[in-house]
Amino acid sequence: MDRRSFIKKVTVGTAAAAATTTISAPYVWPKGKTYLWRMVTTWPPGLPVLQTGAERFAKRVEELSEGRLKIQVYAGGELVPPLGTFDAVSQGTVQCGSSAAYYWAGKMPASQWFAAVPFGLNAQGLNAWFYAGGGLKLWEEVYAPFNVIPRPAGNTGVQMGGWFNKEIKSINDFKGLKMRIPGLGGKVIAKAGATVVLLAGGEIYTSLERGVIDATEWVGPMHDLRMGFYQAAKYYYYPGWHEPGTAIEAIFNKKAYESLPKDLQNILDAVAAEINIWSLSEFEAKNGQALEELVKKHKVKLVRFPDDVLKALRKFAEEVVEEEAAKDPTAKKVNEAFKAFKAKVGAWGQISERAYYQYIA
Ligand code: CA
Repeated sequence: MDRRSFIKKVTVGTAAAAATTTISAPYVWPKGKTYLWRMVTTWPPGLPVLQTGAERFAKRVEELSEGRLKIQVYAGGELVPPLGTFDAVSQGTVQCGSSAAYYWAGKMPASQWFAAVPFGLNAQGLNAWFYAGGGLKLWEEVYAPFNVIPRPAGNTGVQMGGWFNKEIKSINDFKGLKMRIPGLGGKVIAKAGATVVLLAGGEIYTSLERGVIDATEWVGPMHDLRMGFYQAAKYYYYPGWHEPGTAIEAIFNKKAYESLPKDLQNILDAVAAEINIWSLSEFEAKNGQALEELVKKHKVKLVRFPDDVLKALRKFAEEVVEEEAAKDPTAKKVNEAFKAFKAKVGAWGQISERAYYQYIA
């Protein structure tokens, strides 16, 4: 070996060794820029699954991003009023929010189909529509003019029909009934002759106890137990025809979302999906326990709405939904898509979930 080829070999060898060293050296994650975001919600401080779900969302985003995206969460009223959530996100006052789409019905009637429709899709059906039936794409279209990006981030499952101090034996029993029931459900019972009373969460219990209202709906056993309604009403009705699986939303300001690197955007999307399944699981697991406590410990009288009452409510609900859909072309488009999807999954559900539930019941 002459000197020249020796030097060449050594040089090549050193370069190869250097390359190997670089590859096998401990990889240091280039953390890059860190972001500090704020999230506002529609929920009271500490409200199980909803507010705690928003907090869990923030915690998981911070964990998965290894601290690159931190989100400070504010409950309803702490930074902006609860129903100011959408505007705060839209205007970029904050980067994100947690709420439910039907609260924005006054701004865009079409939003209601992305939260709950009386006698509409349940949680399973809504998630199928969002993720596999074009529903989320429509939802994005509806929010786009407001510079807001929506993601499904929770579901209450089928709610309860509500707490009543009068028995509902026929549709006529709704005549003159004073009930706290917001949104489309309220419009449905108004058609049946009821008086809809709007009350903030904190005023419901005393209003029910003092007879200012005859009935109220809230969520399901877990949340209703916490409100103590069993001490103020005699009958606990089911099913919650008016909210058969209310979807919770995570909303992002478009500019803020798009200013993030792609991997952080992916983390937000993935955590929203994680919280979606987490929240439905929490409701499913804990409603069962709470119902048992209400019935066994507090001797609550559980009553099913009679079939002919549900049938009459359903007819009114179909009218209400069509009236809402007629309010603007976007709502009409969303309603048509929703109905077409519901017809398809409904036909399948009849011979799958329904047939199975009936068998195991
Ligand atoms: Ca409700």
